[in-house]
Amino acid sequence: MELRAQTTAQALGWELLARDGEARAGLLRTRRGVIETPVFMPVGTLGSVKGVRFEELEAADTDARIILGNTYHLWLRPGPETVRALGGLHRFIGWERALLTDSGGFQVFSLSDLRRVNEEGVEFRSHLDGRLCFLSPEVSMEVQAALGSDIVMAFDECPPGEAGREQARASMELTARWARRSRGRFDELQAAGADAGRAGENGLSGRQAIFGIVQGAAHLDLRRESLARTVEVGFDGYAIGGLSVGEEKAVMYAVVEEIAPPMPPDRPRYLMGVGTPEDLVECVARGVDMFDCVLPTRNGRNGQAFTSRGRLNIKNARWAADPRPLDEACACAVCRRHSRAYLRHLYMAGEMLGGVLLSHHNLASFLDTMRRVRQAIRSGEFTRFRREFLEGISSGVE
Ligand SMILES: [Zn+2]
Repeated sequence: MELRAQTTAQALGWELLARDGEARAGLLRTRRGVIETPVFMPVGTLGSVKGVRFEELEAADTDARIILGNTYHLWLRPGPETVRALGGLHRFIGWERALLTDSGGFQVFSLSDLRRVNEEGVEFRSHLDGRLCFLSPEVSMEVQAALGSDIVMAFDECPPGEAGREQARASMELTARWARRSRGRFDELQAAGADAGRAGENGLSGRQAIFGIVQGAAHLDLRRESLARTVEVGFDGYAIGGLSVGEEKAVMYAVVEEIAPPMPPDRPRYLMGVGTPEDLVECVARGVDMFDCVLPTRNGRNGQAFTSRGRLNIKNARWAADPRPLDEACACAVCRRHSRAYLRHLYMAGEMLGGVLLSHHNLASFLDTMRRVRQAIRSGEFTRFRREFLEGISSGVE
């Protein structure tokens, strides 16, 4: 065991509370609160978790401790200097709990046209107005400092899920070089006091924390090399990127199984953009601590509810006179109060409350699943929980 002198306070801490196989229950200490892991982080793309008020995110049935903001979207609109002038993203949106921002890389690669990637960064046209923009590790760090998020993500290149070996290797190597540049610029910005979200709590340094990202598509040897090179740069936490981008589910599980367990044991592990309730449980079983995904709110807006017996499509005529809640096993505010019949009526009538209520239930359901996952790990019953949970969601809604 390597001994390191703790001369300066850390930006972020993670400690293990219990293990069950590879599944870990822990405490993530951030400058804005202590977060129990494994944790699901609702996505607030444009500074809003779509359709869900912040009071509801904080309410007991949901109790989100950390949410995401998207650097790409907030950079284009309203712009980092506007957010900085308004006191950083926490103040701007009215959320004092923890925030993580992505690097903008994934959105550039998935949303924009006319991308040109070179060593320096990515040139692309804004999906809003066609304006020519340039994003690099340095720009991403500057934007994330202006947003003042508590956890910053290094700028990476996300190759397509089916990337061949050559393309995946080139992309992984570029990501490794960009990780070093991200870390360098990030440290300069912290030293210069550019972080708009500084906050002292939990004996931490009060600075932003930064996570590195492992790439390499479906190639396990490239993934291992990417992990080694990312750890060599040194980050506060480590993420697995480039999954849930259209690859087979077995591929995703294989990559996570290969990469999460050898990640530094005293650092949080974050699987980006994943996933369904079954993905969360399956990837916790493979050693992941943190997740984010747009599914609860996106599918909620489209009339789909996640329940303990699988997915429920509220448009289905069979619910038209059904007095039962979306999920009889759910204690969320929506399930305590409203029937499937009412929710279907709202959806069919085009009432925006329909999407709002389904989004709330879905988020509450995801966060409750993670609560139960944590309890199961801490009581040594995760294996049984996992089996029963998967049986439940594949049993079908009645
Ligand atoms: Zn519910």
